[in-house]
Amino acid sequence: MRFSTAAIHVGQEPDTATGATIVPIYQTSTFTQSMPGEHLGYEYSRSGNPTRTALEKVLAALEGGEHGLAFASGLAAETAVLSLLRPGDHIVAAEDLYGGTIRLLRRIFEPLGISSTFVDAGSLDAVEAAISPSTRMLWVETPSNPLLNITDIRGAAALAHETDALLVVDNTFATPYLQRPLEFGADIVVHSTTKYAGGHSDVVGGAIVTSDETLAERIAFYQNAAGAVPGPFDSWLVLRGLKTLALRMRMHSSNAAAIAERLVGDPAVDSVYYPGLTTHPAHDLAAAQMDAFGGMVSVRLAGGGPAARAFLGELKLFSLAESLGGVESLASLPAAMTHASVPEEERARRGIDDALIRLSVGIEDLEDLLDDMGHALEATRHV
Ligand SMILES: *Cc1c(COP(=O)(O)O)cnc(C)c1O
Repeated sequence: MRFSTAAIHVGQEPDTATGATIVPIYQTSTFTQSMPGEHLGYEYSRSGNPTRTALEKVLAALEGGEHGLAFASGLAAETAVLSLLRPGDHIVAAEDLYGGTIRLLRRIFEPLGISSTFVDAGSLDAVEAAISPSTRMLWVETPSNPLLNITDIRGAAALAHETDALLVVDNTFATPYLQRPLEFGADIVVHSTTKYAGGHSDVVGGAIVTSDETLAERIAFYQNAAGAVPGPFDSWLVLRGLKTLALRMRMHSSNAAAIAERLVGDPAVDSVYYPGLTTHPAHDLAAAQMDAFGGMVSVRLAGGGPAARAFLGELKLFSLAESLGGVESLASLPAAMTHASVPEEERARRGIDDALIRLSVGIEDLEDLLDDMGHALEATRHV
């Protein structure tokens, strides 16, 4: 079964009780048993709920994995993955992971004795140099946020497996439509389904997919024992979002590519970050492991911080907002918004300065988005 067919049909057979064509929102906490211990597969909705089961099946199918597990948020899914580790274990993590992931590693897991070393995961040499005998996990995000750096998933998997560590890939930005890390040797894929998977900025959720039976069992045990599960309605919203993932990602990618092209060479622009541009330093690698380049574009304006603020003030269609991956276009200033908690000197070293703007390009009509860009760029010429 191909991608969109799977997105629409896997785990979503007509309801056996009523014939409902669409998976119902089983808004129930408990399930009636005919005799003690005799039930139809569900007992209590933290342990399992049919709407969530449908979502878990389709997520696994889309990532090309055997087991899917859904969570209340992306960070809840990440916590479940990190529960595989024990005090004394070490993680090599990309330095440009999602800010909340860095906070989770530094502020929650570090005090529990699970340490992390952050490296430029665009360089496998840097990853390798950070691996120590206690390293049990490599954690990368590709493309990364906000500079759209690319990690070689196959190469990172080889490094992880040489040292008996697991490779975890956060596939939120690419989505399984554009990139399937398990195919390149990753052990676990994590998602914030809040973003492209849900796709309509109306739900917070997370997911894990793996083909390793033992890992899946351990994470499923944690999912039930710790309890950060998505409710039936949230599961249903993500399930509905996934049905159009392919259509949306094609449109996000083509709009983003056109906007990146528009920004390149404009006198108001200093640099453009988009893996689909042939000038991106890892364009060939991105082309090898992705089917298209996604909807995220970052741009550094030539006029510095004042130009960036003028630009954001002038945008009409792009909302000034955190988050990403919805059908509507968003713009943000990472240094003051998503990455404000990163120490200033570290931001400077990584190039996340006051002139850097991150765009989550939506699926509106391209001409309208280009007009909005044009007006906003014009405004920066007068600061
Ligand atoms: C948003 C995001 C997360 C965290 O997910 P939540 O659903 O907000 O908990 C993790 N990774 C990436 C890449 C994200 O964009």
